[in-house]
Amino acid sequence: MNTAGDTSLLLGQKDVPPVREYNAEGRSPFLLTCDHYGRLIPTVLGDLGLPESELVRHIAWDIGIAGVAEALSTHLDAHLVAQRYSRLVIDCNRPPGAASSIPIISEATTIPGNEGITREEAAVRRAQIFDPYHVRIDEIIDQRRHRNTPTILVSLHSFTPVYAGIARPWHIGTLYQRDKTLPPQLLQLLRAEPDLVVGDNEPYAVSDETDYTIPVHAEARGLMNTGIEIRQDLISDQAGEKLWADRLARIFGEIEAIFRTQQVI
Ligand SMILES: [Zn+2]
Repeated sequence: MNTAGDTSLLLGQKDVPPVREYNAEGRSPFLLTCDHYGRLIPTVLGDLGLPESELVRHIAWDIGIAGVAEALSTHLDAHLVAQRYSRLVIDCNRPPGAASSIPIISEATTIPGNEGITREEAAVRRAQIFDPYHVRIDEIIDQRRHRNTPTILVSLHSFTPVYAGIARPWHIGTLYQRDKTLPPQLLQLLRAEPDLVVGDNEPYAVSDETDYTIPVHAEARGLMNTGIEIRQDLISDQAGEKLWADRLARIFGEIEAIFRTQQVI
């Protein structure tokens, strides 16, 4: 029997589960997600044909965001759901089947391990990494609803300071599409910080074609939501991660107080 193409064993005994959760009993209305938290690669996929220098770059994950997300989860007493495998294996914020879901090229780097991938192999990556993460987010939102716990989804990301040769001026950006409540409030508070250049749907905007977590989990359920993108050079060490987690905890604390006063939560 030829098992060379059998990827039903994508995640083996040495591989950790894709979903990592923090503070699952957290009482905050904010539910934090982190689609690009990790850069693990299932053992059977080796290095996807890439040198280590590529596998530590932003194309593999959101540099710095894991530390920010964990600290923010603690500060806010918020549940954090994170995904540990590299977006080069399967991008958990892309609709499955989109060209960027299992990218053959990312920025200017070709991903040899993704070239010529079969439909079955793609389906296994989805079944073992993408689906467990999104099924778990769904379950959590359902459980919160049953407990009458409000849910405001905050999707945490980081962006590279230079993309395709273009420097990006923003320190932080909000990303949104349909929510008209949280993003303007967040923008107002971020812009009140004197040292920040704030992106309004920069460096990315949310869309149904290029995103998954916000459209599917928040917008389709009518939940308030925002994406956040922090520039990676600001959170490239523990001190930076802490500064940004502290700042965001303070701002989201203010937002929670405002929303409770306004009785929107
Ligand atoms: Zn990201």
